[in-house]
Amino acid sequence: MVDMETLTSLCKRRGLIFQSSEIYGGINGFWDYGPLGVELKRRIKEHWWRYMVLSRDNVVGVDTSIIAHPQTWVASGHVANFSDPMVDCKKCKRRFRTDEFPEGTKACPDCGGELTEARSFNLMFETHVGATVDSGATAYLRPETCQSIFTQFKNVLATSRQKLPFGIAQVGKAFRNEITPRNFIFRSREFEQMEMEFFCKLEDSQEWYDYWVNERLSWFHAIGIKKESLRLRPHASDELAHYAKGCTDVEFEMPFGWSEMEGIANRTNYDLTQHQTVSGKDLQYFDEASKSHFIPAVVESSVGVDRTLLCVLVDAYYEDDVEGDKRVVMRFHPSIAPVQVAILPLSKKLDEPARKLRQDLRLEFLTDYDDAGSIGRRYRRQDEVGTPLAVTVDFQTLEDNAVTVRHRDTTKQDRVALDQLKQYLRDKMQEWK
Ligand code: ATP
Repeated sequence: MVDMETLTSLCKRRGLIFQSSEIYGGINGFWDYGPLGVELKRRIKEHWWRYMVLSRDNVVGVDTSIIAHPQTWVASGHVANFSDPMVDCKKCKRRFRTDEFPEGTKACPDCGGELTEARSFNLMFETHVGATVDSGATAYLRPETCQSIFTQFKNVLATSRQKLPFGIAQVGKAFRNEITPRNFIFRSREFEQMEMEFFCKLEDSQEWYDYWVNERLSWFHAIGIKKESLRLRPHASDELAHYAKGCTDVEFEMPFGWSEMEGIANRTNYDLTQHQTVSGKDLQYFDEASKSHFIPAVVESSVGVDRTLLCVLVDAYYEDDVEGDKRVVMRFHPSIAPVQVAILPLSKKLDEPARKLRQDLRLEFLTDYDDAGSIGRRYRRQDEVGTPLAVTVDFQTLEDNAVTVRHRDTTKQDRVALDQLKQYLRDKMQEWK
């Protein structure tokens, strides 16, 4: 399995992910996505949106503000409970989570200095809304995207013509002042989440929970993650929040061990009840059939975009030999690959037909154009960024109206007539294993 250092340096070298504010020495827990990284991330989010929202009758989307009324976080429990216990080193001033070392540790693992007593540290970033910096104006950057789905439940219900059971989905930024951000983009302080809250009757919630656990695992397969790299981990009853009836993590085997990618939870009717109590507004659903009012239960699916992207990178990384040369190849699935088709003219003299071909292909596929260096080097570059298919335009193309298509994983080549090319590319990507 690839190690994190190799992966981090590949990401930088190929313009996937950079350290945030690198010229100022970086800022811990923040990352920037480069030209290829932004495409990969965008495609993962679009794939999720299509799978969760566009392809279903009973899920709708929202896009809510990052800063919400501070009472939101009182109702959700984040103001009171969203904290990690931590200690500071009195000498070197480093801050640690207490679960990072064995219980009873008294000395700093870095410098041996004395540690403070454990204190809880709220993970929400605070800010102030408006011109005055008084406590009344304190607001928070959201630590998860789902709470505004609950607070907008009634508006969505009234405007979307949905009836139970139905879901509301959202993709967006979340912020947590993690004490020890680590493992590259796995645990950062600013990240994106893709969340869906599925509202249903309490008595149906177990059935929907089972359904969504399966659906969500299938999504990871659909973006090309190998089955053996994934597992489901149902939480033991003593791990569950007091209101939750069930929770299952989708875990992926990272270089640093099996790790949570996503949580699917049967949260009963806890969230809407909390918001109804704190806001004083009626958040009940009226069921026509039984003529009764009740607060729906909710099954939640919550997955990190950046963690998924890291899982995609780790899973796709391969090193192999091609004719005695070692190569690095990212085996991204075509449905999320940042570039799907590269157009490579064999000579700069073929610029005109090759660019014309690119113009045509880019209407349907994500393309790249590369005419620099030997063809072998260009193939390696495309392999390293995971381009599934490369189209080579050569002098014969001018005579036979055909091009050579090279397959990333097998390196096999096919000669394809130009008027068949689009269909050929479409078919190859459809049947990709
Ligand atoms: P962890 O135990 O790893 O801190 P969590 O259980 O607190 O995660 P949730 O609150 O369930 O995480 O958030 C849902 C998803 O959001 C996680 O499964 C993960 O994919 C993503 N996520 C949470 N915290 C971070 C973070 N600091 N950086 C990147 N992604 C995160």
